[in-house]
Amino acid sequence: MQDSQLSDYLLPKKAEQLSLLERLVNTNSGTLNIEGVLEVGKLLEPEFQAAGFSTRWIELPAAMQRAGMLVAERKGTSGKKLLLIGHLDTVFPKDSPFQTFERQGRFATGPGIIDNKGGVVVLLYALKALHAMGALDDASITVVLTGDEENSGKPIAVSRQPLIEMAKASDVVLDFEPTVSGHASVGRRGTAHWLIEAAGREGHSSIIFSDEVGAGASFELARILDQLRKSLVGEPGLTVNPGTLVAGVEATYDKASGAGSVFGRTNLVAQTAIASGDVRYLTTEQKQQAEARMAAIVKDSLPGTTSTLHVEQVLPPMPSTASSLQLFELYSQISQRLGHGPVTLLPAELRGGGDISYVAPYVSTALVGIGASGDGEHSARERLDVESLFTRSQLAALLMLELVKPAP
Ligand SMILES: [Zn+2]
Repeated sequence: MQDSQLSDYLLPKKAEQLSLLERLVNTNSGTLNIEGVLEVGKLLEPEFQAAGFSTRWIELPAAMQRAGMLVAERKGTSGKKLLLIGHLDTVFPKDSPFQTFERQGRFATGPGIIDNKGGVVVLLYALKALHAMGALDDASITVVLTGDEENSGKPIAVSRQPLIEMAKASDVVLDFEPTVSGHASVGRRGTAHWLIEAAGREGHSSIIFSDEVGAGASFELARILDQLRKSLVGEPGLTVNPGTLVAGVEATYDKASGAGSVFGRTNLVAQTAIASGDVRYLTTEQKQQAEARMAAIVKDSLPGTTSTLHVEQVLPPMPSTASSLQLFELYSQISQRLGHGPVTLLPAELRGGGDISYVAPYVSTALVGIGASGDGEHSARERLDVESLFTRSQLAALLMLELVKPAP
């Protein structure tokens, strides 16, 4: 009954959904294009109001140079309190050659078309359909569309604070990031960035490894990386990647820009060697153990060198809880009931982090990857399976219907 009521509402809206998406995609909203992000927010605000939501904009400190976020909410007392998240920004800056929506048969391409503009349209139309059925009248739902998901404002503790506060007041979080090949996930790995700096002594290449000069910074860094590989690679759920190396007589590296400088000679021993990379982990415990092993390896310096390790957590892990798995099962059952087949659970190892990682620690139940379906996100091949705007809206609406109905 509800299935057909929802289809009756959503089927005639297919063209409307796609044309809204086209407008959103054609409005560039690379994270640092603040005006563009605000513009996308303005296009969406009246849409949420039409679904019975009150809307407001939360700004971030000006020094952060991020647009802030759009919040749409309605308050009630029935069922679970939902937090729905998505984002307005994309990875494509204002000067990217990839700027426009294009229809290609059953697909459409464009910057952010699934990541995350398609997901926002799915979320919006699920809510519009439920509102039209009167199913939201006593529901408590908060939608947060961040303007800096792809390149979050720093410090994270400040830019994610509003999201965390809203999570604390919610029971369930649903994140409308894209679904690739019909996957969804309930767990994600955490990420930390690390920086290792090795310092060696000044000296001529002819006397490297002498008591006077020692091994030099390059060999010291090579030793560390080789031992990291032997000690950490292959542990389930853990990956370590040295993304950047710089070494020479003088070397600098700036993490923010990813750029560095180096000066060296074939006949001079390297005095500075820097490696920068990330470590991804399933649990905080796994991270602590990996960090302790990294620290021990770094400390075991070659003669005439000293090294330091600096680790900074950027994204906490999102642990798979029993309650999240249950919600995932429900989502998959609804998908089967509608004839779309089962949804598969994507292992936490295969999914990068996202805004949901910051809020998952504060709720018992979280599900991510229920937005629009397609592939090629973060590349100029990003494309949407157009039909998924309809099917995913229907699925999301039925899932929310179960969550907001009064407890028996
Ligand atoms: Zn995204």
